[in-house]
Amino acid sequence: MAGSAAPDLKDEWLPLGRRRATAVLRRVVPAVRAAVAGARNPSVTEIAGRTRSPFRVLVSTVISARTKDEVTGRASERLFARASTPRKIAALSERAIAELIYPAGFYRTKARAIRALSRAIDAELGGRVPDTMEGLLALPGVGRKTANLVLTLGFGAPGICVDTHVHRISNRLGVVRTTNPAGTESALRAALPRGHWIEINDLFVMFGQTICVPVSPRCSACPVSRFCRRAGVKRSR
Ligand code: SF4
Repeated sequence: MAGSAAPDLKDEWLPLGRRRATAVLRRVVPAVRAAVAGARNPSVTEIAGRTRSPFRVLVSTVISARTKDEVTGRASERLFARASTPRKIAALSERAIAELIYPAGFYRTKARAIRALSRAIDAELGGRVPDTMEGLLALPGVGRKTANLVLTLGFGAPGICVDTHVHRISNRLGVVRTTNPAGTESALRAALPRGHWIEINDLFVMFGQTICVPVSPRCSACPVSRFCRRAGVKRSR
């Protein structure tokens, strides 16, 4: 996905139509926010809040892929305690980075990616993380999900980070009908009020870990069930 733009919106990606989808999302977002109040924010959000560092957001997002949140948090802390700037991380060996971020999933591959990223930012960009989608997508191994998270959490810029939870829940609700996160991002950009763009990822991640879980969602306890078409849900509790 690196280097690719969000695809142009297709009408079929908003099966309710844009206005109805917006109306549903205006009801769903506050209800989900209330439902997850008190839950712990995802690790990358915590790191962003504590450090205000786009670079740390970028690196911890790489670590977070297919990795439990607590593991991401601890792995990121270990790495940043040893080296927290692009130059310092680039100076570490891949093996050292891998050892620091273990047991994150695919830790060897991620160590290679983190070193490559750090090198590129240090050598080609004067140590500064790009603050544009194009600039971020030009970095090695960075796709739209990571770029959007860096833009939103690292720079406070508008963007919608569509990960597996945002993609799944948006489709189950029936506000979008898409086959991949890039399509979901385009559809949400059209239908989701801008004021909810940045928060939607955190909200749906926490909602997706507790209520609208991947297998057998807890529909009977769901605060937005009355707005939900439960598209594709075959089994629920
Ligand atoms: S009703 Fe079920 S499928 Fe729909 S959002 Fe709630 S938990 Fe998810």
